[in-house]
Amino acid sequence: MKVKRSFFEDCPVPKCQEDEFKKTVLAENFYRGKILATAIMVLESLYIIIDKVSYYLKVSSSFWFNGYLLMYAVMILMNGLFLACIYKYKDTRELAAHKRKQLEHVEIIYATMMMTWGSVISLMDQKLYGELIAFMVNMITCSVLFYLSNKQILIPYFCSVLVLAIGLPFFQTSENILIGHYFNLFIFVLISWIASRLIYIEYCKTFRGQVLLRQANVLLEKEAQENKDINLKLSLANFHLNKLTLLDELTNIPNRRCFRHYIDMAFSRFSESAFALSIMMIDIDYFKQYNDQYGHEAGDRALYLVANQINSIVKGPLEFVGRWGGEEFIYAAVNQDKETVAKKADEIQQKVRNLDIPHGFSRNGGSVSVSIGTSTVFIERKEDIRRAIALADKAMYQAKNSGRNCIRNIEKDAPEL
Ligand code: GH3
Ligand code: MG
Ligand code: MG
Repeated sequence: MKVKRSFFEDCPVPKCQEDEFKKTVLAENFYRGKILATAIMVLESLYIIIDKVSYYLKVSSSFWFNGYLLMYAVMILMNGLFLACIYKYKDTRELAAHKRKQLEHVEIIYATMMMTWGSVISLMDQKLYGELIAFMVNMITCSVLFYLSNKQILIPYFCSVLVLAIGLPFFQTSENILIGHYFNLFIFVLISWIASRLIYIEYCKTFRGQVLLRQANVLLEKEAQENKDINLKLSLANFHLNKLTLLDELTNIPNRRCFRHYIDMAFSRFSESAFALSIMMIDIDYFKQYNDQYGHEAGDRALYLVANQINSIVKGPLEFVGRWGGEEFIYAAVNQDKETVAKKADEIQQKVRNLDIPHGFSRNGGSVSVSIGTSTVFIERKEDIRRAIALADKAMYQAKNSGRNCIRNIEKDAPEL
């Protein structure tokens, strides 16, 4: 049922694709027309030469030299004009709709002239050998070479058949041949039309398939882009999540888990040889009293300020500051000399003092202060890390016992840097 319908349908593509279809067909017809017109011009030029030679050699008395010569010239002119038009409007897809319509007309005029030319030559041939070859060749060529709808093919068919049908009795004197010609004419036109139709419908099908494929491709591309976006969002979310798991919630500085990453990084970076690890344990003095006096919220704020002040000391990837827990912080540095570590400890202590957070219960000048214990240990195995921390912790308690707000250092088998 569907095949039957599309066979007689003028343009069997969905309405929404009609414009694109017409553009494609015109471009294709022009491309084919270019090849055909070029070939015909070469061929007709050859015919003119043959015609001239035959004339001088007096090949046949019934051959109408000048008549054929004129027809060949007309054919060359016609194809020349068509070629000029094709070259003038190279990219038919870019043209406005009305211009394209005009070019469609040019295409039909060309097919009409070609077929009618075949009819005239066939009429002339009646005197010579009584065949309809020229008409048949031109009709089948235009029918199978150009993609023309029913409406479009009607004009060339009508004109060429009319000229031939009316002219035949004037050129063909044999009644029997004439009847044979009319019969053959009918059969041939019918076959040409069926061939043209089948080719046209096949082209429509291919076009529809291409459109579907393009649409599917667009959808796939869109989906791929969406997946890409989702993946990007996921990796961003993952990144933030990872960052969050490595940051202390209250102070927003690295946490203990992050310290482990730092140590892993140090081990992978210095996997070939041992390295020196300097540790500082930093503890806020009299912080319990601070909380008791100013409240837990004020305590949190003070913790935040102190933490970020200490964190601001970090200058490169080999240094680390993190919250160790409660009101304790850890500083770590790889391959740093003793003097620099001592300077950093002084700097931390001074920076915290500079915050000038009032602390009425501190016996160290009425503002929040820290006690710091430092230690530098030569690291060969992971267990050595524990020792470095323990030594710094011990030093920090020495600072507490020495009245707080001071720095103590334990240098047990510390390396010379
Ligand atoms: P010291 O000078 O010997 O270090 O005395 P301290 O009071 O600072 O030390 P102690 O270990 O007795 O008390 C630590 C206090 O730190 C107890 C707790 O209220 C406070 N603290 C720990 N974590 C937090 C926190 O997240 N927020 C607040 N506001 N306080 C905290
Ligand atoms: Mg403490
Ligand atoms: Mg404390």
